Amino acid sequence: MAMDQELSISQIQELESDLHQLKLDLEGLLDTTESGAKPVTLRDNTGRLSRMDEMHNQSILVANRNLTRNRLKQVLIALTRADKDTYGRCTTCDEPISYPRLKAYPEADMCLDCKGEIERG
Ligand SMILES: [Zn+2]
Repeated sequence: MAMDQELSISQIQELESDLHQLKLDLEGLLDTTESGAKPVTLRDNTGRLSRMDEMHNQSILVANRNLTRNRLKQVLIALTRADKDTYGRCTTCDEPISYPRLKAYPEADMCLDCKGEIERG
């Protein structure tokens, strides 16, 4: 199997700025969804949404917020790895993680091979 290429310094700098942007985006998302995640209360104008619908929507929103929070955690970890110059390497096998993968998920800490093995269980 072909090994992925080492990242260039400019690629790492680009991905680090992606990480910072992603951190801001995720924090912003958590801010804007904060009020919707509060327990459903009866509102003056119930409109077409029943209380059940509102509770359903709220539970989806809470689940999404949990995913966002977890991703933010991964981003923060990736930023500390960038400080220690271990960014862009698989934490399991120490091989470089491919640039396209990091471009899609700048917080990725495992190469596809290792990640795939974990998902196969
Ligand atoms: Zn690996």
